Amino acid sequence: MTYPSEAPASQALFARATKVIPGGVNSPVRAFQAVGGTPRFMVSGTGPYLTDADGREYVDLVCSWGPMILGHAHPAVVRALQDAAARGTSYGTPSPGEVELAEEIVARVAPVEQVRLVNSGTEATMSAIRLARGFTGRSKVVKFAGCYHGHVDALLASAGSGLVTFGLPDTPGVTGASASDTIVLPYNDLALVEEAFAEHGDAIACVITEAAAANMGVVPPLRGFNAGLKALCERYGALFISDEVMTGFRVTRSGWYGLEGVPADLFTFGKVMGGGLPAAAFGGRADVMAHLAPAGPVYQAGTLSGNPLAVAAGVTQLRHCTDEVYAHVDAASAAVSRMASEALTAEGVEHRVNTAGNLFSIFFCDHAVVDYATATRQNTLRYKAFFHEMLARGVYLPPSAYEAWFVGASHDDVALSRVAEALPHAAKAAAAVHAPELDAPPSAEDRA
Ligand SMILES: *Cc1c(COP(=O)(O)O)cnc(C)c1O
Repeated sequence: MTYPSEAPASQALFARATKVIPGGVNSPVRAFQAVGGTPRFMVSGTGPYLTDADGREYVDLVCSWGPMILGHAHPAVVRALQDAAARGTSYGTPSPGEVELAEEIVARVAPVEQVRLVNSGTEATMSAIRLARGFTGRSKVVKFAGCYHGHVDALLASAGSGLVTFGLPDTPGVTGASASDTIVLPYNDLALVEEAFAEHGDAIACVITEAAAANMGVVPPLRGFNAGLKALCERYGALFISDEVMTGFRVTRSGWYGLEGVPADLFTFGKVMGGGLPAAAFGGRADVMAHLAPAGPVYQAGTLSGNPLAVAAGVTQLRHCTDEVYAHVDAASAAVSRMASEALTAEGVEHRVNTAGNLFSIFFCDHAVVDYATATRQNTLRYKAFFHEMLARGVYLPPSAYEAWFVGASHDDVALSRVAEALPHAAKAAAAVHAPELDAPPSAEDRA
């Protein structure tokens, strides 16, 4: 059985949406621009499945880009939300749930002594960088090409032509001034970071990196890379910020920190910790966090920060993320990546599977992918064909070749067997594409 490529109800909604919402979506990647076709408007989710406006059911391999680790509409999370909603949706005062969520996070990630709750991963990284600048009295930020930290002005910077170079704005609307305080370096190249510190060490406030890069497809840090960054920061008096918005509470109960144990000065969290509601956080060393208002001089605030619904969902989800949940997510993730790779191999389609803990993605290329330059030399037309064949067979993949695939604790044998049935057809569709070998790098529009 396959679904037709037309999706009339989604098409009608998309037509209405494009009149009143730019591009018809509230986050660019949802528009399907990288794969073409009509974005599916989802009307409900349960466990590992999403149902669209045309009544078609899909095995969801996006999981809201990470948050839905327990599956959609998990009964305990829904109950916690119903209970919280009945007590009112926002107070504008402190409330007990905020303390519980903060305690859950502090208990899981040892170097995090204090956290501040915010509403999105973007706010978390933006605030962490402001805090690092306020704490150190320095202005420059080191980031890595291909790492995504939300749509923070200073972090929407691309590498210039040199290797150690000040950033150029990645998008109109970001000034040269805010980008030029950003030093953009290739991921996984510690020697160049050392060079940057040698040259600008007294001006660098912080280094921010994804704990494991997963927004250019999955590109794990080479052994010693994160520890090397931390050591360099320490040597030069800068702060090391580990962005765990995606990896946090997903790859282990303590996130990537649980796998590598590199004690960053500040961490950022989001996605899983919100249970599908807008909740995120940044936190770390108590002496650094003490610089935040009202304890200290660095301003940071939010009308809905620590919202009672968001913290109820987040606390409940985290408490249900047991060892069994992580074991299941690890196994389901390994199963899907193995099945996909076997199907592609059977059809002779060149590809590389990259993994970082239970995160993985597949690159349609035949070289090792270790940074942005190698990640962006792939055959995305093959992915496009692969994606649409999976969609027609009831499997919802990320609508871009540059994203991780996500599974959760609800991806059971039934859901995985549906994926297994679809994969050989999708691999055939990919094999049938005789495209020019490799693509140009994706534009900023392909992101988020
Ligand atoms: C998703 C993501 C962000 C941004 O989070 P939003 O909630 O979308 O603002 C930041 N950093 C990383 C590593 C992410 O994956």
